[in-house]
Amino acid sequence: MIVQNLKEVQERIHALDKNQHVTLIAVSKTKPASDLQQAIDAGQRHFGENYLQEALEKIETLKNQDLIWHFIGPIQSNKAKQISQNFDWVHSVDRLKIAKRLNDQRPKNLEKLNVLLQVNIDNEATKSGVLEGEIEDFILHFENFQNITLRGFMCIPNPNNAEQSFKKMAEILQKHPNLDTLSMGMSTDLELAIENGANFVRIGTDIFGKRA
Ligand SMILES: *Cc1c(COP(=O)(O)O)cnc(C)c1O
Repeated sequence: MIVQNLKEVQERIHALDKNQHVTLIAVSKTKPASDLQQAIDAGQRHFGENYLQEALEKIETLKNQDLIWHFIGPIQSNKAKQISQNFDWVHSVDRLKIAKRLNDQRPKNLEKLNVLLQVNIDNEATKSGVLEGEIEDFILHFENFQNITLRGFMCIPNPNNAEQSFKKMAEILQKHPNLDTLSMGMSTDLELAIENGANFVRIGTDIFGKRA
């Protein structure tokens, strides 16, 4: 099931992504390591997790398999240390305090942590992320951080106007020639996101099935 689902998602991506700029992140929150292993055996390397504790267990269980781990959930500041120690990418940075903690806690023997700024692109009260107008100020502060690299932006748009929001995100990235990454697109809006310039898509349900 998972292997077939993964194949179908890969085909959906390849149909639009002729130049192979898009990386598929399999979002495995709430799913057991055995599910991830099925995807790994089928060639999947990038995994996205939202909850630190269960993620750490899976990272431990699946270590030595050359995987790339993405933290995509809300970050409490007391969790920043373990996130910085155990992940390769963090998509959900939305406060300087968190960026600073990730920077200060990144082990020196690891490569720099790749960070995306989460943008609350539709200005929704229920969503985390910086507002569009706060981005520039946020980016300026990154010059102080030696152990993390800002790579680009992430968003979770309002489904009612996803296309318009993805276009806005692409414009934001274009204003920053030194950044190269847009993380956007989930199971329901994968195609729209790729058409508008996503290079990470984060797919859970369509690979692993519905979550409880
Ligand atoms: C759960 C989650 C996803 C995956 O969503 P699906 O609809 O299951 O594909 C992607 N991004 C974030 C931030 C998530 O929390």
